[in-house]
Amino acid sequence: MKRALLDLTAAELLAWLKAHGQPAMRARQLRRWVIQGQAESFEVMSDVPLALRLALAEKFVPLGTRVARHLEAPDGTHKLLLRLADGQLIECVLIQEDDRRTACISTQVGCGMGCVFCASGLNGVDRNLTTGEILEQLIRLRNLPGTAPAPAGTPSTRLTHIVVMGMGEPLANLESLFEALEVATAKEGLGIGARHITISTVGLPAKIRRLADLGKQYHLAVSLHAPNDALRNRIVPTNTKTGLAAILEAADYFFAKTGRQVTYEYVLLDNINDSPAHAEELARLLRGRRAHVNVIPFNTVEGLPYNSPTPAALAAFLEPLRRHGLSVKVRKRKGSTIDAACGQLRRRELSVVNIHPRQTQVNIH
Ligand code: SAH
Repeated sequence: MKRALLDLTAAELLAWLKAHGQPAMRARQLRRWVIQGQAESFEVMSDVPLALRLALAEKFVPLGTRVARHLEAPDGTHKLLLRLADGQLIECVLIQEDDRRTACISTQVGCGMGCVFCASGLNGVDRNLTTGEILEQLIRLRNLPGTAPAPAGTPSTRLTHIVVMGMGEPLANLESLFEALEVATAKEGLGIGARHITISTVGLPAKIRRLADLGKQYHLAVSLHAPNDALRNRIVPTNTKTGLAAILEAADYFFAKTGRQVTYEYVLLDNINDSPAHAEELARLLRGRRAHVNVIPFNTVEGLPYNSPTPAALAAFLEPLRRHGLSVKVRKRKGSTIDAACGQLRRRELSVVNIHPRQTQVNIH
């Protein structure tokens, strides 16, 4: 199998080029073509010698993912289902709002956290994505038709934000994610500001501390979904291993270290975690913290026994949070016509096409 260029470390690429009698500058040149120049074949790399292009094409591919599906919603949201070199499928989404172009990316094939309402984790986790596979989601979204190609050598400003909120638990694949984000933020990479990158985690305390110690300006979002351990253990099973107290302590450490306010995400599930009493408890839990709360009405997943709250329940949930002075936002729905919520399109694809060995287990209806 040919390796994707972005999966080679800088040292590996340099060593290969050296063995082929090439100067070190070629490494930057090649990466620039793929990352900034939208090159999807070696053929188009016009300032790379032909013999080298042919030698490269024998060993490598510029991009290792293929677009298995491309869906576009009327609101301008694009969703890509990407097939990886080993046949696995992942999803990524481009959300366009005003002057923002936000890429929502995955970090794992599936997810091992098992949140009961989430489509991504229904089959468990297959594997971590490589650095190249994480980067390629950004590049594929940036390269979508309808956008003018950036001339090689000029930093692309087309993606303005990244949310790591696709499939998988980002902090369970920390090394590859960090490497990919290094390229995403580099001037000679995608040039996206670190402050415009949000990493959403189920809440792994030790990994949150590592993220804090990185000294980057990434924004942290913690998926809380419940104001006490008893309820959170039911909704987010991995909570039995961590507990809310340790997660909040780690998040406080992140704030102290980085000065970046933490966002707490709260998926509202009808009749499960959406009562005004839950909101009061949540406000008490976050008291004294400079926290932001992102309320996300549940996005229905076929086959799962959960519902979105009614508009009245949503309003009644928000009232105590606001009264206690919390900064609260309700997440808007985007791209619902194209299964834009994480894991849904892949799951549909898996249940239609027999490409997954565990396909029979997908059927949970
Ligand atoms: N593993 C990370 C990223 C998950 S996706 C995390 O747990 O944060 C980002 C957010 O979407 C999480 O808060 C997740 O709980 C939420 N989510 C997952 N499925 C959802 C659904 N069907 N409707 C609404 N939000 C959902």
